[in-house]
Amino acid sequence: MSISSVLGRRVPYEDVLLPNVSFVNPAFEYHYRRNNETEEEYAERLIHELEAHFLGIGPEKIISFIVEPVVGATSGCVTAPKGYFSGVRSLCDKYGILLHFDEVMCGVGRTGSYFAFEQEDGDVLPDIVTIGKGLGGGYVPLAAMLVNDRIVNTLRQGSSMFNHGHTFQAHPTACSAALAVQKIIRREGLVSRCADLGSKFGQRLHAEFGCCKYVGDVRGRGLFWALEFVKDKKTKTPFEVSVGFGAQIHQMAFDLGVAVYPCVGTVDGVVGDHILLAPPFNISDDELDIIISTLRRAYHEVELHYDNAMRGKMPV
Ligand SMILES: *Cc1c(COP(=O)(O)O)cnc(C)c1O
Repeated sequence: MSISSVLGRRVPYEDVLLPNVSFVNPAFEYHYRRNNETEEEYAERLIHELEAHFLGIGPEKIISFIVEPVVGATSGCVTAPKGYFSGVRSLCDKYGILLHFDEVMCGVGRTGSYFAFEQEDGDVLPDIVTIGKGLGGGYVPLAAMLVNDRIVNTLRQGSSMFNHGHTFQAHPTACSAALAVQKIIRREGLVSRCADLGSKFGQRLHAEFGCCKYVGDVRGRGLFWALEFVKDKKTKTPFEVSVGFGAQIHQMAFDLGVAVYPCVGTVDGVVGDHILLAPPFNISDDELDIIISTLRRAYHEVELHYDNAMRGKMPV
């Protein structure tokens, strides 16, 4: 919770969150790349900002830089601009800061490679990766922390103790169920299936929603896609929070038979709406078509309802 920027979730815990955490600007092209910047220039600016941030705190006081390679609920399947992660890796190396990728949502095949970070330029490798969710395929509660040799060897040279644990850590039943899930993912080639089906799914989403009046951006990788909704596509202005545009899409789609994950605060933790689409790795082509056609119906119903409300015909 302390390292999360989903403000709505933090609010009830504000008084007990850790004070020794700080945040940098998000690597989020759709909203934050300047019009006169290329993707690479934007990445460079972010790297400069990050270095200034490290120096401002004092790099010797920083244990790690934590980032989602493909952002999940916070802003909706956002990928970083080209060159960003290799820049981050160099800075972490320069200042002796661990690089921690949070792949709880995007990892374990979801984006079309086993780890989401594999798709980044420059063969960037993290020191720590956290995974969860898809690790147990949703059947068992399990999450894991993966660490590289550098960390293992450092622990070995010291006490060899990892002084942090849970009662049910490494629970054999959960681990064995997750291992079974991972074997099936490998046996059935589900990671490359995510990549293949995902590129078709993405094309369909672009084709069906790219021109919609209130769909500002369609983005994602593999079987992990988001639609971001905006009130004005030209200026990328989000809806007022009170409209609950994403929540309305979610409710309508759910009533029609498709569950999507609605999130608010897309732009800055407060305003902005998006939905996440993360279908099962073994979904069929026909089922993907059902998702698209149902979502189209839901979107158009909500669009009509909003337009009518704006014309003063009925309440939002
Ligand atoms: C769900 C999620 C978490 C929380 O994982 P837990 O295993 O419930 O602690 C952390 N990071 C991301 C990106 C998530 O999506």
